[in-house]
Amino acid sequence: MKIIMLGAPGAGKGTQAKMIAEKYQIPHISTGDIFRANIKNGTELGKEAKKYMDQGLLVPDELTVKILLDRVAQPDCENGYVLDGFPRTIPQAQVLDDALTGMGDAIDYAINVDVPDENIVKRMSGRRACLSCGATYHIEHVPPKQEGICDVCGQPLVLRDDDKPETVLNRLKVYHDQTQPLIEIYSAKGVLRTVDGTVDMKDVFAAITAILD
Ligand code: ADP
Ligand code: AMP
Repeated sequence: MKIIMLGAPGAGKGTQAKMIAEKYQIPHISTGDIFRANIKNGTELGKEAKKYMDQGLLVPDELTVKILLDRVAQPDCENGYVLDGFPRTIPQAQVLDDALTGMGDAIDYAINVDVPDENIVKRMSGRRACLSCGATYHIEHVPPKQEGICDVCGQPLVLRDDDKPETVLNRLKVYHDQTQPLIEIYSAKGVLRTVDGTVDMKDVFAAITAILD
């Protein structure tokens, strides 16, 4: 099963993608996580990506598409995957579509997690991330057992630079300009399913599994 998660930054794509990956035993692929791992390891890709990420801008398609296509070519992706944060532009969607069509394949579902802008800034300022293992928390909704420490790997949690309110507003603008048009594209292909992302995360997941099962 090949799934795309769509939705504004902070809508809960990553939260749901991790649960989908576990239930359906497919890899969770987050381009944001791949970039953050590269930044942490000081790679050239990480240095280049950081320039854009810190401003709330998208990393250029040339860089992003290559890392995604390399990742989905790995053997663990044979039975499908859940893409979180890709595609984010029309050219990215076209490249993915062409690559899949070339293999006689296609995306099965594009799940649009719908959360209005008003809720987003609040969610993002409460998000805490582990840059070591990629786990995500929320200071009110999903607090770690010990404040500021990752439950999974014991590393310190951080407020991502790009989750600060001024950057979140830029990211929302970029989302509306460049990513939201993808909703129409996947709707036209007949694979779009929209779920209400404002409810409790367990209820969001129940709505998603009702679609996928
Ligand atoms: P995205 O991957 O779309 O950027 P995340 O999955 O990281 O979003 O979620 C953003 C923040 O909101 C996180 O701190 C997460 O714990 C929290 N969150 C996710 N889903 C919900 C929900 N349904 N209700 C409340 N908070 C949520
Ligand atoms: P995320 O973790 O999905 O919120 O992504 C964090 C940041 O990484 C985004 O704001 C972008 O700067 C960059 N990024 C992640 N995925 C993409 C993508 N598909 N295209 C361009 N930039 C991306």
